[in-house]
Amino acid sequence: MRLTPRKEEVEAVKALLESPDFNSADQMAKAVIKEVADILQMRDWVALVHTWADGRRGLNFAPFGNEAEARAFASKMAFGGTGRLVRLSSPGVMLANIDGKRGWKGYCLHPECGHAPFTHSAASAARGPCQLPTCPCDRFRK
Ligand SMILES: [Zn+2]
Ligand SMILES: [Zn+2]
Repeated sequence: MRLTPRKEEVEAVKALLESPDFNSADQMAKAVIKEVADILQMRDWVALVHTWADGRRGLNFAPFGNEAEARAFASKMAFGGTGRLVRLSSPGVMLANIDGKRGWKGYCLHPECGHAPFTHSAASAARGPCQLPTCPCDRFRK
């Protein structure tokens, strides 16, 4: 999985590594793994879908960070058949658009909101209050 770490992802992991709240390296390692899984679930991936030469469904491989990585993998394999690339959309982003994602870049940073930009009304050039009925957010915060 080839990927370029984003600044906010590095910050999230760093915050765990520098946190005094862990009593053991095991505890910290578990928290880091969970955080990284959360980060990876907020990205789109590419799958390589394979068909054998006789038309039967083949072997499918994922995730790849981008199409170039999937193509490089396919060209190293010599099991024949044909392959095509399929974009895998992030379930994390879909869930975040419904449930919100507090403290996550791209989502509202109002402490009680965390909803996607499109849930906020347009107030002149900026985004205004969150339109979700139970949300107290008065304007979109970046
Ligand atoms: Zn909201
Ligand atoms: Zn908001």
